[in-house]
Amino acid sequence: MARTTLNTTKSEEIFTAAQKLMPGGVSSPVRAFKSVGGQPIVFDRVNGAYIWDVDGNQYIDYVGTWGPAICGHAHPEVIAALHAALDNGTSFGAPCELENQLAEMVINAVPCVEMVRFVNSGTEACLAVLRLMRAFTSRDKVIKFQGCYHGHADSFLVQAGSGVATLGLPDSPGVPKSATTHTLTAPYNDLEAVKALFAQHPDAIAGVILEPVVGNSGFITPDAGFLEGLRVLTQENGALLVFDEVMTGFRIDYGGAQEKFGVTPDLTTLGKVIGGGLPVGAYGGRADIMEMVAPSGPMYQAGTLSGNPLAMTAGIKTLEQLQKPGTYEQLDKITGTLIEGLLAAAKAAGHEVCGGHLSAMFGMFFTAGPVRNYDEAKKSDTAKFGKFHRGMLERGIYLAPSQFEAGFTSLAHTEDDIERTIAAAKEVFAEL
Ligand SMILES: *Cc1c(COP(=O)(O)O)cnc(C)c1O
Repeated sequence: MARTTLNTTKSEEIFTAAQKLMPGGVSSPVRAFKSVGGQPIVFDRVNGAYIWDVDGNQYIDYVGTWGPAICGHAHPEVIAALHAALDNGTSFGAPCELENQLAEMVINAVPCVEMVRFVNSGTEACLAVLRLMRAFTSRDKVIKFQGCYHGHADSFLVQAGSGVATLGLPDSPGVPKSATTHTLTAPYNDLEAVKALFAQHPDAIAGVILEPVVGNSGFITPDAGFLEGLRVLTQENGALLVFDEVMTGFRIDYGGAQEKFGVTPDLTTLGKVIGGGLPVGAYGGRADIMEMVAPSGPMYQAGTLSGNPLAMTAGIKTLEQLQKPGTYEQLDKITGTLIEGLLAAAKAAGHEVCGGHLSAMFGMFFTAGPVRNYDEAKKSDTAKFGKFHRGMLERGIYLAPSQFEAGFTSLAHTEDDIERTIAAAKEVFAEL
C-alpha cells in the first residue's frame, strides 16, 4: 500500500462544525484524537472489517466500534434480524421474550452468571454492580486497579486508565472527594498490594473489581496466579470478586476471561459484544447476590430502555454467530499473525516494542517491556505512537487513537487484511 496523501477535507469541515455544537466535537472523549494529534476521521459507513469516511477513503478497522463489532460490522444476519425486529417497534418498556433468550445465552456462556440484569451501557453495569457489592456485603470500600476503567461513575474515576492519573484524587473535577474515599487502588498484577489493603481495612472491603485482562491501559494480561490469588484473598476476607468483562466478555472466549482462565468471580459486568453494536450492558452472577436487585430485593436499579427488543435482537444474533465451531480459533489465529507480524516488523526496524494478544484482542507498546501494569505502560514512547498512528491512517489502517487502548479484530478480517496491515506497518516503522 503506497503512501497516499490522505484527503480528509470533508472530515475536517464536519469536525470543525461539530466542535461548535458538542464539547470537543465528539460524543465520547477518546474519539477526538487528542493523544495522537490531528483531527478525527468522520465516518459514514461500516461493513465487515472496513470503514469508510465521508471523503470516500476506506480503512481496515481495528477498533470495531471499541469492541462490539466482533462478527464484523453490519453482519448480514444481525442486520436482517434487526430489520425484522424494527417492524414490531423499538421499545416496549415491558417484559419481552427476547430478554429471556439473551439471558439464557449469557447464563449458559459465562461461568459465574446464574442471573442477569440488562442495562444500556458498560458504565451503567459497573455502577450497578458496585452498588450491589456494597448492598450484599454491607461494606463500603472497594478495591480497583490503577489503569483499569469501569465506566465513568464517580467512585470509579480514580486512576482510571487513559484518563489523567492523579494520586488518590478523583480523575475529574465534579467528582466529590467523598465519592472516592471508599475507592482503594492497587497496581495491576500486585497481589501483595491487595493483601496489604485487606489488612489495613479489615471487614470494610466489599470487593475487588478488575478487568481480568486489561484493555484500558493498553493490552495487559494477568500474571499466572494473579486471578487465582484474588479469588482466594476475596474469599478469605468475606469480600466479593467482580470481573469487569465489558471488553473481554465474548471477546477472548465465548465465556469471557473467567472461562479462559478458569477463575470464577462472584459477579461480572458485560457490555460491548453482547449488544452487537446496539447499546447494551449487563451485570450478573451468583443468584443469591442477584436476588438483592429490585424488585426481587431492596437494591434499586432501573432503566427505561433496558432490555429493548432491538438491543436484545442484536445481542442474540451476534452471540449465535460466535457459537459456531472454530470461531475463537479463527480469531486467535488471525490476531496472532497480526501482532507477531507487527512486533517483528517493529523490531527489525530497530524499535523497542512489546505486546501480545488473546483471541480477538491485542496490543503493542512502544517500550521494551514487559508491561505488567499501568506504570510500566506509561513508559511507552507516546510521541512515537502518535506518528505510527498517523502513518497507518495514511495507509488505510484505522487503529485506536491512543497508546493506551487495546486493538480488536473480527471474524471479518481476512489473512489478506492482516498482510496489508503488516506491510503498511513496515513502511511506517522505517520512517519513524
Ligand atoms: C468500555 C468499558 C466500560 C464502559 O462501557 P460503556 O458502554 O462505554 O459505558 C466499562 N468497563 C470496561 C472494562 C470497558 O472496556
